[in-house]
Amino acid sequence: MSGRVVVIGGGFAGLWSAAAASRARTQFAGAGSGPEVVLVDPEPFHTIRVRCYEADLDGVRVPLDEVLRPIDVRRIEGRVTGIDAAARSLAVEDGNGAVQTLDYARLILAAGSRLVLPAVPIGQEIFDVDSYRGGRRLAAHLAALATGPRDGAAATAVVIGGGLVGIEIACELPDRLRAALGAEAPVRVLLIDHGDIAAGMGEGRRVVGHALASLGIACRPHATVAAVERAAVVLADGERIPAATVIFATGMRANPLAQQFGVACDRFGRLPVDRFLGVTGIASVYAAGDCASAQADECGHATVMSCQHARPMGRIAGHNAVCDLVGRADDRVPFAAPDYVTILDLGPAGALYTSGWDRSVVVAEGAEAKATKRTINRERIYPPRHAGRDAILAAAAPVVQVRPAVR
Ligand SMILES: Cc1cc2nc3c(=O)[nH]c(=O)nc-3n(C[C@H](O)[C@H](O)[C@H](O)COP(=O)(O)OP(=O)(O)OC[C@H]3O[C@@H](n4cnc5c(N)ncnc54)[C@H](O)[C@@H]3O)c2cc1C
Repeated sequence: MSGRVVVIGGGFAGLWSAAAASRARTQFAGAGSGPEVVLVDPEPFHTIRVRCYEADLDGVRVPLDEVLRPIDVRRIEGRVTGIDAAARSLAVEDGNGAVQTLDYARLILAAGSRLVLPAVPIGQEIFDVDSYRGGRRLAAHLAALATGPRDGAAATAVVIGGGLVGIEIACELPDRLRAALGAEAPVRVLLIDHGDIAAGMGEGRRVVGHALASLGIACRPHATVAAVERAAVVLADGERIPAATVIFATGMRANPLAQQFGVACDRFGRLPVDRFLGVTGIASVYAAGDCASAQADECGHATVMSCQHARPMGRIAGHNAVCDLVGRADDRVPFAAPDYVTILDLGPAGALYTSGWDRSVVVAEGAEAKATKRTINRERIYPPRHAGRDAILAAAAPVVQVRPAVR
């Protein structure tokens, strides 16, 4: 072994960084030689995070070893708590609080992002669908409504944040509340945003508006949440909405590890990277997924915090880190993803598939778009399972997939 490539994070960017690094190692150094590839994550699972709003969370977590073992990537179960870029080392804390130092020759930061909560007083348990744990906690809470008081608060869910994640979970909630409280229960779902609902959805806003109306979801744009009290949401204008279920979908911010390099980050806390996904000004460090802002096209569009971008960024960062390390800089691949699409689940009202950075073209809607969304969430973004080393390495080629077909 010559040197070590360390990947922080086993999500969409991290898993594919590690797989691509393994693939490049095989390509350039031959099986059984070349750098060691190590992936560090506190969880033993690769989480299909985009599915955390779904009612059925079966299969949302894929054991990391199922993918990493066949391709000889070493996994360390632990949380990176510090990065010393000058010394090229990391501090990794395991579940018992023991800290080990891990040296790297090349580092790929792929530690993702987290929900950002607004600074308002919170006086009851709140929920999110940002993570598998969040999705599970919400499911347990909704199930428990069945045995609690049958009042207006129990029948009401408030979703705060009218962006893509807020819309996806809001659309699921009428049926999920009825599943807990009975088909005839007077369920109420409100979607609140301090700006517009579905802002930035371009032509797609028409489709989203119809879907929300058909599901009976009350939209409250330009409303600011001042506090969450016991069984109620209070708005800045003093209105008090009784609600036992309060879900925050108020945006994502890059993992704080991105701040450890002394490099100016963007408004989402993401590191700037060059076209090979190397962190600007920091030798030997790459970043991919929600931790990085890369140029996606020649028109100045930056990558979006999305699995759409995280997966190819991971494959390209992993490949490039190994090329760089083994003296094959000419074989590095530049990142470019000019074709941007959005596929938004609208629950029982179907889905919406738009094309373009301004989401100006509706490619498909209703049941047709829903079939595409289902294929993405259940198949396309999964690593090959039980398929063996060659299939995993083939899937890790440093390419950007073409847009999903309409089913
Ligand atoms: C409900 C929901 C729906 C979404 N829908 C879509 C969609 O339809 N399309 C789309 O493209 N995107 C969607 N997204 C966004 C998408 O999920 C993220 O952009 C994507 O997960 C980013 O991938 P990532 O690998 O950068 O980060 P993540 O998937 O968040 O993975 C980060 C990994 O890093 C690990 N980690 C964190 N901290 C540390 C640490 N200190 N040390 C070691 N490891 C660490 C975590 O355990 C995790 O495994 C959705 C997100 C949500 C929440």
